[in-house]
Amino acid sequence: MTKVLSVLGSTGSIGTQSLDVARKRGYRVSALAAYSNAELIEKQAREFKPETVALVDEKAAADLKTRLADTDIKVRAGLEGVCECASEKNCDTVLNSVVGMAGLKPTLAAIEAKKKIALANKETLVAGGKLVYEKADEYGVEILPVDSEHSAIFQCLQGCYDKKQLKKLILTASGGPFFGKTIEELKNVTVENALKHPNWSMGAKITIDSATMMNKGLELIEAVWLFKMKPEDIDIVVHRESIVHSLIEFDDNSVLAQLGLPDMRIPIQYALTYPDRFESPVGELDLAKCGSLTFFEPDYDTFKCINLCRKAISLGGLYPAAVNSANEQANKMFREGKIGFLDIYERSASVLEKIPVYDSYTYEDVMEIDALARELVENY
Ligand code: MG
Repeated sequence: MTKVLSVLGSTGSIGTQSLDVARKRGYRVSALAAYSNAELIEKQAREFKPETVALVDEKAAADLKTRLADTDIKVRAGLEGVCECASEKNCDTVLNSVVGMAGLKPTLAAIEAKKKIALANKETLVAGGKLVYEKADEYGVEILPVDSEHSAIFQCLQGCYDKKQLKKLILTASGGPFFGKTIEELKNVTVENALKHPNWSMGAKITIDSATMMNKGLELIEAVWLFKMKPEDIDIVVHRESIVHSLIEFDDNSVLAQLGLPDMRIPIQYALTYPDRFESPVGELDLAKCGSLTFFEPDYDTFKCINLCRKAISLGGLYPAAVNSANEQANKMFREGKIGFLDIYERSASVLEKIPVYDSYTYEDVMEIDALARELVENY
């Protein structure tokens, strides 16, 4: 049976690479959603001929409607439109590569529609991991990781016969463009400096998150939910070459790793074809050409966002959601030139003492905390 995909965030880095995989594997695409890029999504719609397309931005959606007037493709607007794409009746798998916690609602919509989920939107789990897994268990939905580190762990876990024998997960981090820098040296770095990632080509938000290493903190929280691990059983090691994508360690101290060239099309394809593997567009890993692989302890005193996330997930409740939303706001303000690089941590950390404690929470509570955290960061 041909796979039928709905791709959310189709015009972004993961989205376009997912369509690359879909094209090569001959998958059908029944829905496409993005934020505002009408020109690119029109091109994608003409190639893949989905039933429904959506843009979050209302103006851009109106423009897209005009562009696709000669087709019978339904054009939808707003987050509701994205949710409609997430539950499109013909698709069997939703690839969610929306940026930020805006991806949470579409993930929940996809679960309710009983779609298999290939998740590239880590903020979905950081902000609402409990809501997502409660619903996924209720509807019997499978969530497969697309994030390269989590895909690596998921692949290694195929070699784990009994999860009770698993001691810890080890996430690798490239260290980003500012590896080895001191706090002093980071004071005046520019957006341009921060956007120069050494190994991965990604969107702007996640590239800044890699520079602050907030990305690794968010990934730690993502791993807690995906693999049902305690935060203290997840280690982080800096690996500059991004060849070893992550590792798992057993009780006998034996360690399994997954390696490959840093190209997202391997984890994307694995999430879509699991448990099968096929030829991929990514080149072979030539270890002799790599030469040496290096590993370092993260500099937690300089890149404080990692431990901020560790603290948030250890506190539990809506603390991870608050830190995530605060970071989304601070990351945006840095990219807009409104605050300095180090202010991203300062402002994100400031919300922890100011949010109420929740024992249990709903989607509406997450949205309330989201608004509060953004406001606190804005008015810091
Ligand atoms: Mg990653």
